[in-house]
Amino acid sequence: MVRFDQVVKRFGDHTVLDQLDFGLRRGERVTLIGPSGSGKTTILRLLMTLERVTEGTIHVAGEPFSHMPGGRDRLVPANEKYLRERRRRIGMVFQQFNLFPNMKVLENVTEAPVHVLGLSRDEAAERGRELLDLVGLADKCDAHPTQLSGGQQQRVAIARALAMRPDILLLDEVTSALDPELVAGVLDVLRDIALSTDITMLCVTHEMGFARDVSDRVMMFDHGHVLEAGPPDQLFEAPEHTRTREFLSAVL
Ligand code: ADP
Repeated sequence: MVRFDQVVKRFGDHTVLDQLDFGLRRGERVTLIGPSGSGKTTILRLLMTLERVTEGTIHVAGEPFSHMPGGRDRLVPANEKYLRERRRRIGMVFQQFNLFPNMKVLENVTEAPVHVLGLSRDEAAERGRELLDLVGLADKCDAHPTQLSGGQQQRVAIARALAMRPDILLLDEVTSALDPELVAGVLDVLRDIALSTDITMLCVTHEMGFARDVSDRVMMFDHGHVLEAGPPDQLFEAPEHTRTREFLSAVL
């Protein structure tokens, strides 16, 4: 579903990702862990086309994703269209929920399916209600985001991402901005989605219990490299690298 082929990402002369190769199979759930600043979020932002690769290629569903027609230094109109088309396949949930504050909860979830996918309002609303039910907010369709807790807002953001029927769901530290008592509710919803659907999931998190429950594979990053990767039991119980052991003992 996803393949990074010798991807280099530099900001100025700071090399954040250095010839990174990695892949994600369809339906696979992968968690990226590692110290702050090691390049995990940059991987998600590259996939979401919020950043561009410096060198190398990213393939999504077999198509090159990062070498955009018309050159990659300037955003020409053709590129904007290309980017929009590609972004539709990928849903991303951020640390900050970024809901539309002036729209009701259901409208937040139906806006993109109506305007981007071209669904009728009725179709989008029906699907939106199903998704809000899935995240435990069926009774909040007519509320405004400001009337919800942070955890509830994040669950709306998850429903909104799923409403676009993405091939891949990217989760970027989605519980980091929440009060501690709201974290479990959001993780429970994500655990349900991960275990009851076949969506491909790439997740950056400091929640090691969650990583262990949902991941097929955990990848430990350090300085833009994959230090080691494996099934959660292996990586958490018997890490090979001292650096991984140190990191895990600091966060667990
Ligand atoms: P992580 O998610 O592992 O904490 P990030 O991918 O956010 O790491 O960041 C990796 C490195 O890239 C950090 O040193 C960060 O400062 C740098 N970085 C990220 N985005 C930018 C940017 N837009 N401009 C300059 N440096 C950036």
